[in-house]
Amino acid sequence: MLYIVATPIGNLSDITLRAIEVLKQCDLILCEDTRHSIVLLNHYDIKKPLKSFHKFSEASSEEAILADLKAGKTIALISDAGTPGIADPGTRLIQACIREGIEVVPIPGPCAAIQALVGSGLDTDMFRFIGFLPKQDGELRTILCDAMNDHSTTICYESPKRIQDVVALIREIAPNRRIVIARELTKSFEQYIRGTAEEVTKQLAETEIKGEIVLLIEGASANEIQEWHQLSLPEQVEWIERTYQLSKQEALKFVAKSQGRSKRDLYNLLVQNRPIDT
Ligand code: SAM
Repeated sequence: MLYIVATPIGNLSDITLRAIEVLKQCDLILCEDTRHSIVLLNHYDIKKPLKSFHKFSEASSEEAILADLKAGKTIALISDAGTPGIADPGTRLIQACIREGIEVVPIPGPCAAIQALVGSGLDTDMFRFIGFLPKQDGELRTILCDAMNDHSTTICYESPKRIQDVVALIREIAPNRRIVIARELTKSFEQYIRGTAEEVTKQLAETEIKGEIVLLIEGASANEIQEWHQLSLPEQVEWIERTYQLSKQEALKFVAKSQGRSKRDLYNLLVQNRPIDT
């Protein structure tokens, strides 16, 4: 059996009784960095064999782990912090176990994305988690464009080094959109910076941002979504190009995706003035 065990994201007390029980009873613990996890395991007097399992070894170690599981071993997977599989290794192994008929049991616990969402004050009824933001400028603009036109709250992970630039970009695109920076959650310097993109930009200019960060972006309002749908397709492409400073190709791709159409259909309409097949 494979247990997926969530561990603290800062405060060592944030671990469930069941997680400790599972870690004390399993045969083997898989962890990203043994030197990192040993601190938590020593704190709870958990003495079990540890094996390193990180994004670079996930594929190569799979066969041996599956063999152990098939032989009846109980294995617990943890990551450096939070829930394994969430912007952390685990998904590939979980998929392999499901394929092989091996039972997978997740043990609930901390996850920075969910913690940040709950404390953000933004809408929690509909949200999407998109992991780490891309570094490349065009990809980042496309992802933000997606977030701005979606009515659910977007949650992403970002490094303190880049957060100012990302917030500046959101401000450029939508100065009145509410955003939240959730920083150092569950730790001594836990902080939520809340406001419009304009306000948060000003706050960031006054504070040096350090530590671990979750960025949340408010979803588009019903009015914004309605206005967007009232634009014709060429107007949508033009608006995306202008607002997000994307190339025509990128804007076409975005609009095609949002309409459930192929890029070729939209290209025919816009460039060659041919009707779109329905
Ligand atoms: N699996 C983890 C989870 O469940 O949240 C996420 C792992 S991911 C490699 C690490 C990123 O999560 C950090 O760069 C940061 O964006 C976010 N994160 C983790 N701990 C955090 C904390 N205490 N406060 C704010 N963000 C945190």
